Amino acid sequence: SASPLGHSVIPIVNKLQDIFAQLGSQSTIELPQVAVVGSQSSGKSSVLEALVGRDFLPRGSEICTRRPLVLQLLQTKRKPDGTEEEYGEFLHLPGKRFHDFSEIRREIEAETDKEAGGNKGVIDKQIRLKIFSPNVLDITLVDLPGLTKVPVGDQPSDIEARIRTMIMSYIKIPSCLILAVSPANADLANSDALQMAGMADPDGHRTIGVITKLDIMDRGTDARNLLLGKVIPLRLGYVGVVNRSQEDIILNRSVKDALVAEEKFFRSRPVYNGLADRCGIPQLAKKLNQILVQHIKAVLPGLKSRISSALVSVAKEHASYGEITESKAGQGALLLNILSKYSEAFSSMVEGKNEEMSTA
Ligand code: GDP
Ligand code: MG
Repeated sequence: SASPLGHSVIPIVNKLQDIFAQLGSQSTIELPQVAVVGSQSSGKSSVLEALVGRDFLPRGSEICTRRPLVLQLLQTKRKPDGTEEEYGEFLHLPGKRFHDFSEIRREIEAETDKEAGGNKGVIDKQIRLKIFSPNVLDITLVDLPGLTKVPVGDQPSDIEARIRTMIMSYIKIPSCLILAVSPANADLANSDALQMAGMADPDGHRTIGVITKLDIMDRGTDARNLLLGKVIPLRLGYVGVVNRSQEDIILNRSVKDALVAEEKFFRSRPVYNGLADRCGIPQLAKKLNQILVQHIKAVLPGLKSRISSALVSVAKEHASYGEITESKAGQGALLLNILSKYSEAFSSMVEGKNEEMSTA
């Protein structure tokens, strides 16, 4: 099954890649990068993991993410016998395939200790991990260290400024989508995530608010007004989520089970009735997918003109064959045929007629 992220985008991207392959073109659609920001232990790594649908990131109540993790998801073809192969490969260990995702987590931890020390040090040197799977779309997610204020362990006295600079270097990129993660059990007016996202993206065109820990709010309080944007408005709005607790992690509860539990959480609380589109990891994935589809629509016209001119040059070549060998003309006609077919599919996608384009 596909990961929650990319569910509706995968068919479009696949179709486009088919077209490019037919044209012998290397080019493909470059999707924007997605980065998470927020204070330490707000639930950033948990949110990314739930979006990918696999367990592989270090998470915990203390500082865990101490180096930026650049996670490149790469779609592979399903094997002819229908079986799926999913594996990870690190830039620092070329050629070594990790099929066991808990081994990926251990390698991230070991590699973090190696470069940032074992005593809570934070450095900006990236860990780069590729995940190959038939169930993902080609996108890059960045897990970042969280903001902290008081130095602990081997951290220098200016730790806060250093982490801010590091986070900003990712989220200031105009094409980067920002998941601004704030826990529901702290005051949103003090949210580091919203403060930093607001500096990087003042118009709020590329920031989605994510409210975590809805399950551990003070008794008698709820996140309804936060999710409605009544506390701090945000152009693209908020999604509330319930990730695994530390106890769930200790008990080895899976991402899948956690998604079921999250669904049950929202269903059993009348206060969240009527806010279904702002509640849960699947809704967050849907929101991201919608933004990605808009991005694809925006870059399509440029690609379309490239395909049209490729089509024209093939037609010319075909005409120039004249009476030359039957087989060559036949090949040309065949290619022209294929291109025309794809070009039609392509045009209907640009105009948004294609069902797969819809994110409903
Ligand atoms: P990060 O530092 O922002 O990457 O946060 P993590 O994803 O490592 O999570 C920090 C701690 O908070 C872990 O112990 C998680 O189990 C816990 N946590 C994260 N999200 C939730 C949530 O929605 N509910 C509960 N109860 N715990 C959560
Ligand atoms: Mg983390």
